[in-house]
Amino acid sequence: MVQTIKVIIFQMKKYKKLWLTKLIHICTRGIEHSPESPGPPDPPSKSNNHINLAQKYDGKLLLRNEIHLNDECFSKLLERQLFTAHASFVRTLFTKRCVRCNNEKRSLIGYFPCAKCRITHAYCRNCIMMGRVSKCEQLYEWTGTNYPWKKHEQACTWKGELTFAQNQAANEVKLAVKKQTEQLVWAVTGAGKTEILFKGIELALSQGKRVCIATPRADVVRELLPRIQRAFAKIPVQGLYGKSRDREGTSQLIISTTHQLVRFSNAFDVIIIDEIDAFPYHHDQSLQFATNRAAKRSSTKIYLTATPRQNLKYKLSTNQLPHCFVPIRYHGYPLPVPKHISDYSLAKQLDAQLLPKSFVNWLQNRKKEERQLLIFVPTIHLAEQLRAEVSNVLIRKKQITNKLTVASVHADDKLREQKIQLFRQKKLYALITTTILERGVTFPSIDVVVIQANHKVFDEAALVQIAGRAGRNKIDPTGEVLFIHDGKTNAIARSITSIKQMNQRGKRLLLTVGEEIK
Ligand SMILES: [Zn+2]
Ligand SMILES: [Zn+2]
Repeated sequence: MVQTIKVIIFQMKKYKKLWLTKLIHICTRGIEHSPESPGPPDPPSKSNNHINLAQKYDGKLLLRNEIHLNDECFSKLLERQLFTAHASFVRTLFTKRCVRCNNEKRSLIGYFPCAKCRITHAYCRNCIMMGRVSKCEQLYEWTGTNYPWKKHEQACTWKGELTFAQNQAANEVKLAVKKQTEQLVWAVTGAGKTEILFKGIELALSQGKRVCIATPRADVVRELLPRIQRAFAKIPVQGLYGKSRDREGTSQLIISTTHQLVRFSNAFDVIIIDEIDAFPYHHDQSLQFATNRAAKRSSTKIYLTATPRQNLKYKLSTNQLPHCFVPIRYHGYPLPVPKHISDYSLAKQLDAQLLPKSFVNWLQNRKKEERQLLIFVPTIHLAEQLRAEVSNVLIRKKQITNKLTVASVHADDKLREQKIQLFRQKKLYALITTTILERGVTFPSIDVVVIQANHKVFDEAALVQIAGRAGRNKIDPTGEVLFIHDGKTNAIARSITSIKQMNQRGKRLLLTVGEEIK
């Protein structure tokens, strides 16, 4: 009897496999766009035909126009339950909820006259930038065979060496990957947290696991992508963000903005969430929802932060979340401690479109004029307004000869990427920025100034992060940090205290392991 059942099961599996192979062959033979698809069709290259359907769609939750298969093929896959359709909205007690991003705020649910249904119905405004989820559209999840990701032996090609503190944290991350648990890495700015991840990622890849590094900002994806690709040279790494060339997310190792994760479901065995305290991840419940859903039910979650918020600190102090602490930068030098200057005519001077006198005085007495200047201001308006004045003053002080070597940058700036790149290449001497550059970016040798540091956009975490932009490179491991304000806020006081405390902990660690204190 048992034998007969086994034979029947074997036959069924064989039939299913044969059928699946045939269907995949039909579907990939001529991948076409559905007529509704607004996106450009994939070029009919040979490689397209080789993309396995499971590799492309396993772990995704997509709108129909994001599935690039013709209608005939797609309905066959649906019929055979290789895709499963989900309603895009579900009713709640008082309103409705978007299934893709979990939004149920009435103010973020809009209504539009649908040309297809010829009635007015709901759509989600919260996740509209990822394509419109409307009531008559369904979401499709791949429910066919899971894609068997490759097991890579010794995938890490990075040949650098970890410091004692980095190594301790790297071992904790590796253990969390092995045990499929959660782990928080609290590492000071410039601790080298990317390298701390390598051992864990290597272990995951050796076990055929799929890994995602998620970060709230596209700038960080762009910066991390080449570094991760160099460290795992044999494995294709994809970077997903709003304007990225890679759109599919079909790699085993992915770096993604948290926004892009709304297209994933039950996809990753290891998910590393960078800067969990950062905007917009920290404020946006739907990003946290998307990130959690993108992880498999049993998975490893690694959280990274340099500036944990109060609720997270509470979780750590009550042992609700395992964590490790890296209190020292990778080059062993302490964090630059910011100086703060009260300038009570600050508002008046800024209103008159003048640079604060305190700033001009400081410029004259800088320790190293060859360092570039990164100047933070609270608003786009101020960033643009101060650019001319900064270049005038620098020319007068003979620190620059060409006013074009001063630029301003902000979130809406179309040349944002180019300007950051020019600053990195030292083709710009000074860059005036809003908080968009407060974290996730590294420049080799800079001094940092915050003008109007008492503005509400500069909270404690922002100021610690901003100060952390200085002295990151071992070629110039120190740097000056100046906060100019017209009324010292708690955020200013707490950020300076917190940096000093980190330096104390770093010193203690170096004493324990008998390393030199710099
Ligand atoms: Zn939504
Ligand atoms: Zn409709």
